Amino acid sequence: MEIKKQLKSQCSIEQFNFDQFQFGVEATDHMLVAKYSDGKWHSAAIHPYVKLTLSPLAMCLHYGQTVFEGLKAYRQSDDTISVFRLDRHYERINQSLGRMAMPELPKELFENGIKELVEVEQDWIRGGEGNSLYIRPFVIATEERLGVSISTDYLFVVVCTPMAAYYSKPLKVKVEKHYTRAASGGVGAAKNGGNYGAAYYPAKLAQQEGFDQVIWTDSRDHEYVEESGTMNLMFIIDGVLLTPPAGETILAGVTRDSLLQIARDLGWQVEERSISLSELQEAFESGKKVEAFGGGTAAVVAPLELIHLEGKDYLPYVADDARMFQLKEKLTAIRLGKEKDPYAWNS
Ligand code: PMP
Repeated sequence: MEIKKQLKSQCSIEQFNFDQFQFGVEATDHMLVAKYSDGKWHSAAIHPYVKLTLSPLAMCLHYGQTVFEGLKAYRQSDDTISVFRLDRHYERINQSLGRMAMPELPKELFENGIKELVEVEQDWIRGGEGNSLYIRPFVIATEERLGVSISTDYLFVVVCTPMAAYYSKPLKVKVEKHYTRAASGGVGAAKNGGNYGAAYYPAKLAQQEGFDQVIWTDSRDHEYVEESGTMNLMFIIDGVLLTPPAGETILAGVTRDSLLQIARDLGWQVEERSISLSELQEAFESGKKVEAFGGGTAAVVAPLELIHLEGKDYLPYVADDARMFQLKEKLTAIRLGKEKDPYAWNS
């Protein structure tokens, strides 16, 4: 599919203060858009960043057919630009779209479109650890009609925003035993906007109690851990890397998959299996060394320093020599091209 290009004659990068900015507030100069109607994607274009115009009747505003992705581009140590695991994000957006009865995106539109946009915006990507360009592709239903039915029209948009190195302070989390993020048969495995809106309230309650986030548990019995906030949850207990299996209720995180692969290739013992709250309690109470962290594109590895569970506070190990940081370093080195990329993750 041809992607038309209309570029700005003057970019705003000179006015952007890279030393002090808030992530996600300012977009770069250009965006990618494509439309879907009459059963096909068309009108793909990269043009200057503009606000969208939507009819108040646009279905995405009412019935929740919205899907998004989040990925990053890096300036590698040899100064080339690479997008991390573009193919995996492509697979996942199509899975999300399928679950929301939205049309899949053609591979060349998603992958070439993002690569071309990133090329246009490459001056926004600074070198060095932590710096990257955050890429936000999304699809929304645009048919103009108040009617609870599958939209016939959609808009695919990709915008970018710079990201600087940031320190992810260790988090205090509460195990959530009432509210649910995802249930079997539900949409938890899709990056659908509604999943995030629905998670705000339980997170707000946890914050009022002094925690940063919640650990989600299974919707049926609240006996097994699932995710932490919007990150995949991982533990290292007595040297074994443990994480619950991705599936209907646990998003198949790209960071999760990358960390597991790296750990396996480092010769670590890795177990993808259900982890019960009683197993965790037993591990803490019997004095085992427990590391706990969230894995996701934004923070990469976010250590958990406190887990509040059934009235007790458990304190995972977060010192600098914790093994989770080895994984983070290795993943960062691969992404920046400082270390060989044996998995062909950079493209
Ligand atoms: N779980 C949820 C619910 C998420 O929104 C995210 C962020 N996409 C993740 C896990 C982590 O996924 P990834 O590593 O692909 O960013």
